[in-house]
Amino acid sequence: MIELINLTKTYGSLTPIKDLSVKINKGDVISIIGPSGTGKSTLLRCINMLETPTSGKVVFDGIDITDKKVDISKIRLRMGMVFQSFNLFENMTVIENIMFPRIKLKKKTRQEAYEKAIILLKMVGLADKALSYPDQLSGGQKQRVAIARALSTEPEVILFDEPTSALDPTMVSEVEMVISKLAKTGVTMLIVTHEMKFAKEVANRVFYLDDGGLYEEGTPEEIFENPKKELTKKFMKKIRSLELRIDPDDYDFGSAITKIEEYCYLNHVPNRVRYKTQSAFEELVNEIILNECKGNICFNIEFIPLEDKMIVDVQYGKEKFNPLDSVNGLSLKILEGIAANPKYSEIDNEDYQNNFSFMLENQ
Ligand code: ADP
Ligand code: MG
Repeated sequence: MIELINLTKTYGSLTPIKDLSVKINKGDVISIIGPSGTGKSTLLRCINMLETPTSGKVVFDGIDITDKKVDISKIRLRMGMVFQSFNLFENMTVIENIMFPRIKLKKKTRQEAYEKAIILLKMVGLADKALSYPDQLSGGQKQRVAIARALSTEPEVILFDEPTSALDPTMVSEVEMVISKLAKTGVTMLIVTHEMKFAKEVANRVFYLDDGGLYEEGTPEEIFENPKKELTKKFMKKIRSLELRIDPDDYDFGSAITKIEEYCYLNHVPNRVRYKTQSAFEELVNEIILNECKGNICFNIEFIPLEDKMIVDVQYGKEKFNPLDSVNGLSLKILEGIAANPKYSEIDNEDYQNNFSFMLENQ
């Protein structure tokens, strides 16, 4: 369907995509992940020639579309794109937004385009919003309209560039559901996303971009559960853990607890372990360290599903302080009651003097 051959894109002294070669098959749903700035957007934009590759080829259905003789607007009809920032026409109603490319680019009649738009609106669950204007819609609804619009030319490939990252967290799942539904229709899709659970569930292949290109690729299981290469392993470890950096002068307990809650939800942490994590955080950070030791705190958690336990690792303080010597007897007792294998050590780090770690088990 699409073959990238030695694709390279250079911006001045920067080469985010270097000599990338890969084949994308018809019906593939590919999640593209990786740290920011590794060329994920650039890759998508080179595939539909919104960016001209510096060298290499993009072969789409047997046609080298980097060839200047190719009419790229015809190719783009066959390759829809959905952006982070919706890009709807604000002065048109929802249904006109969807009809527009079909009339303008596919030269269909208004009646035909209208009928198609209604079908697409039903598919994204917004038939009742046909006559609304974009500014009357929520972010999630706007993005669903943008998806319907991308589908109106009946593309064979759809490119999504972080379709949910501009959305309020409550609206992410409605958009993901539409994309998942689309994935089952057999249309070829490339999805750049930071939503790792979604990336894993929606795709049959995952591209991990780093270090100037396609660093590792594989099935979702291979990339997420068993990455082979160093940077992929590091990235997976990082996304599996949560780091809370606490500055005592600007500390919001509610927001910290909410982040732990979200992390536990996303990582299927059992309730008992989640409860222990929140208690340990509250006793150790609020009651002990913040009262007895000056300086910033870096609180890390990582859930190990196979062992059903949470690893907690905390760095803190500008002066030496062992929490097990705390004067707060009650908090210490609670902490000792839930923390298995507590270990304190002094460290010599620019920011922190102390390290305290322990485990929270599901029992
Ligand atoms: P990602 O989508 O993975 O975050 P991008 O593809 O947007 O990364 O960018 C890759 C690198 O190329 C970044 O360092 C970015 O600053 C740079 N870059 C992207 N677009 C341009 C541009 N039009 N001009 C110059 N540099 C760019
Ligand atoms: Mg990007």
